[in-house]
Amino acid sequence: MQNRIFKFYVILLFSLFSTSFFAQEKESPKRILFTNVSVWDGNNDKLVQADVLIEKNLIKQVKSNIKAPDGCIVINGKGGTLMPGLIEGHGHLYLNGSSLPDIENNRGYDELVVRGTARAKSALMSGFTTWRDAGGMGTGLKKSIDAGVVEGPRIYPSGAFIGPTGSHADFRNFTTPNETVYGANSSGARNGMTFTADGVDMIKTGARQNFMQGATQIKIMSSGGVASSFDPWQLDAYSAEEIQAAVEVADAYGSYVMSHAYSKISMIRCLENGVKTLEHGFMFDADVAKLMKEKGAFMTTNMTAFSPYLGQIEAISSNPAAARKAVTAQKAFGNFVENVNELKPDFGFHCDCVGDVPACEKQSDHSIYLSGELLGNLFTLKSLTSVNGKIVKLSGEILDPYYEGKLGVIEEGAYADILIVEGNPLKDLSVIGANEKWFDAAEREEIKPMKLIMKDGIIYKNTLD
Ligand SMILES: [Zn+2]
Repeated sequence: MQNRIFKFYVILLFSLFSTSFFAQEKESPKRILFTNVSVWDGNNDKLVQADVLIEKNLIKQVKSNIKAPDGCIVINGKGGTLMPGLIEGHGHLYLNGSSLPDIENNRGYDELVVRGTARAKSALMSGFTTWRDAGGMGTGLKKSIDAGVVEGPRIYPSGAFIGPTGSHADFRNFTTPNETVYGANSSGARNGMTFTADGVDMIKTGARQNFMQGATQIKIMSSGGVASSFDPWQLDAYSAEEIQAAVEVADAYGSYVMSHAYSKISMIRCLENGVKTLEHGFMFDADVAKLMKEKGAFMTTNMTAFSPYLGQIEAISSNPAAARKAVTAQKAFGNFVENVNELKPDFGFHCDCVGDVPACEKQSDHSIYLSGELLGNLFTLKSLTSVNGKIVKLSGEILDPYYEGKLGVIEEGAYADILIVEGNPLKDLSVIGANEKWFDAAEREEIKPMKLIMKDGIIYKNTLD
């Protein structure tokens, strides 16, 4: 009995100690004032001199010479640039193996989640304070990050990809039965990562299931892609009716549909039937641009598709069908960069890495570099902040988990998701990690010029001193 009481006190003491210890570590001071910084607000083509006051998890004031309120912590930015935290517009935290079949057939869900957790931490420590997951992940990691159990960005998950049989969302082995016909026994369905849905009813079921499990938007595969086995990239996989089915369910939740769309037919069909964000969009041209404007739609594109090193991606190099597709696709997408520069669509950053932490850090850094080189630094920075900030908010008031403030901008009332970098990102994207090298890049511990990382008013990195 005594022994049991003793144990009880030890546990009580330990838990008291540990909760107060963690509370001290995690709890943000109520107010923080950043001084001695130039501010890039997420939109402007210039930096402005201003102080920035944070109250709890929101930006309270942006103006020069703010007087520090009582009890406020003052952080001297040492002349660095204060800017919004970065937003990934299209990533896949649970696609964390070298190829889709490798992930799907040889990993259990626990391994995917543990690896996804490592990816989430690396994203945050690379300055990404928000992440729109474009399919394949559940909501457990997102909830655990929000609850402060592990560290990572805010996440807007799409749940399982929805695509028809043989589509870019069909990760089965050649002989695995189709779950639509034989029950949910394929590898993708087993891990809740993909949902093979043919026809209006199945698509609605898939979309509703995703929302039920906490998705903030729906991801469909309305065209073929490159890093998969059965779908020519030119394939227009979903009919107008099928796209409408997904949009109808998303509308009912006040949210939207994002669609993987390569071909012009698929892009136009998506826009005409209510899709709000085109993913990849490689055959973007004046017709698509006009329709996007009319519909208030956005596009996000993985700029690594235009990298000279593209063929070295393992999901492509290890799959002969994908490698063949990549060659023809790169040829067909020849006018993309010119068209984007001329027509300036509402364009979000999109890295789309499938891989482990070092591979995805390298791909993200190279994506930022390529985007800067091909589309310009300001356009790239806006795609990484204010534009992606608008895209994630399309999930609507009801489903948006972060409804209190704007994301991707430095302005009063926005979330306190903030970076301080040494140098001017408008002139030099290497301050946020841009790297000309991709596969040959050295593995990095951190992005050195990124001196401070704050998410939701909490500081995760501070090397200003
Ligand atoms: Zn993707």
